[in-house]
Amino acid sequence: MRVFSHSGHDYGVLFSRWEALASRAGLKFSIFCEEGGFPVIAIENDQALAGESDGVYLSAGVHGDECAPVWGLLHWAESDPVILRTRPVVIFPCLNPHGLVGNTRCDHRGLDLNRCFENLGCPLVKAWTAFLEGRRFALSLNLHEDYDAGGIYLYELSRDESRGDELLSACEDIIPREMAGTVDGSDFHRGLLTRSGDLERVVEEDLGGGYPEAILLFLRYCRNSYTFETPSEQDLPCRVHAHERFIAAALREIGAK
Ligand SMILES: [Zn+2]
Repeated sequence: MRVFSHSGHDYGVLFSRWEALASRAGLKFSIFCEEGGFPVIAIENDQALAGESDGVYLSAGVHGDECAPVWGLLHWAESDPVILRTRPVVIFPCLNPHGLVGNTRCDHRGLDLNRCFENLGCPLVKAWTAFLEGRRFALSLNLHEDYDAGGIYLYELSRDESRGDELLSACEDIIPREMAGTVDGSDFHRGLLTRSGDLERVVEEDLGGGYPEAILLFLRYCRNSYTFETPSEQDLPCRVHAHERFIAAALREIGAK
């Protein structure tokens, strides 16, 4: 595990590390919108730029008070994973930089972006929707944290056989699973909640009608979608390492290392 020489909320470091990595690895680095005074980054490899489908979508930093995922995603990409050269990959390294810098869940307007992904009145969502037009992915990974959690857990939205238990197993030597039967108001079993349908009802009844990134991705753009959560009160390097491990495990089966 790496020691941090910078704050987990330093967007300048995150930005320049992604810029350097993109240049080194031949990835397209673009500013797909500006929000709250910060440039928001999108990364694509050649296969994604060529319009190939059946790749992967990776995203972190939707909630700014959850900083481990943005570094876990960066560290994974910096490890030169094979999939960056073999399958279409789209990465949103930090969708809420204003929140990351301010250590706040919401964006500069006070919006929880993860309840807005259907809302084209939100400029970030409008730019995101335009960016994703016509794209289809085999899998999306949405990386989050939870300050109430005591362990790792996973929301799995799947049209295939569940892989959630296997993926949690791959990470639980770093941080054990959340074993509570109810997590954030939903029923979990050994850190896992798997759904394959009925999501419009979940959005209406449990989420106040606002669509999270993962649910909208699953309904419109992705075959399967995993939202992985680490407990944000625990040690930062462990949390970062858990995200890095989760990404590698989740992508292993679809042609990554
Ligand atoms: Zn979150």
